[in-house]
Amino acid sequence: MKDDQFAVTRADEEWRARLTPEQYAVMREHGTERPGSCALNEEKRAGVFTCAGCDQPLFASRQKFDSGTGWPSFFDPVEGSVATTVDRSYGMVRTEVHCSRCGSHLGHVFPDGPPPTGLRYCINGVALNFFPE
Ligand SMILES: [Zn+2]
Repeated sequence: MKDDQFAVTRADEEWRARLTPEQYAVMREHGTERPGSCALNEEKRAGVFTCAGCDQPLFASRQKFDSGTGWPSFFDPVEGSVATTVDRSYGMVRTEVHCSRCGSHLGHVFPDGPPPTGLRYCINGVALNFFPE
């Protein structure tokens, strides 16, 4: 995936200035936060989850569900806000999810979610900012 395909691009030092070290590791180096480590996992208020890299709205609270995995989980994104690639790291074939606007890594999507989509977007909470309504 090339960075110049995205509407928002930043030099590496700009990413490091904008993001915390943990956010940088997840969003720019495809890291994964420790399950249960992010308070947004427990967030139940109405509102919107935005990309910590570019502020694009990614998920609405009504699209969130409790997957029991320890990561914030959603059955659907805001339309057009995320894109996917095939991730073959760690000997697994997974579908990687990133922000469609800045390309930052968010998490993975799995085909074992609830209706109506049957999808489970398993997202690193540090990649998100939450704005209550
Ligand atoms: Zn973004």
